[in-house]
Amino acid sequence: MTTDLAGASPVDQPVRPQRADVVPGVVYCARCHFRLVRKTLYMLSGTVGAGDSDTEPCPNGCGPLWPVTWEQEAREGYKCADDLFERAKRAEDALRELVALKDIKDECLRVRQRRPQSVTRIFPQDLLDAEADYRNRKDAAWAAARAALGPNVL
Ligand SMILES: [Zn+2]
Repeated sequence: MTTDLAGASPVDQPVRPQRADVVPGVVYCARCHFRLVRKTLYMLSGTVGAGDSDTEPCPNGCGPLWPVTWEQEAREGYKCADDLFERAKRAEDALRELVALKDIKDECLRVRQRRPQSVTRIFPQDLLDAEADYRNRKDAAWAAARAALGPNVL
């Protein structure tokens, strides 16, 4: 038995301790933001664990993949949460505006239908104002709703 590890097979290599400040098994490219998550499947136990965090060339050919630190992971997680919150807020605002416009439209229709035939051509100014308000806000509300859903929605 030899104590020289240079000639040992990969199976005989000692397990290198993971750095405490890096996310186990996660590396990324600083240029194109490609992210690789390595997992190790342990066949005997049927479990999955984190892979190593060794650097390797980016598959897009732009440089090395670097280990991700816990600080980077936390900052990206907070940024993702902020982005999702803003997206949800825009969607809720757009939906709230559409519901408000639907209520205005329904109320205008109810007022028009309740008026007797003899006065159907004469409408109160508040009804006309509400209908104008509806027409003025409708296109912007739908544009905001489509924008909240994403660029691929018509
Ligand atoms: Zn890259």
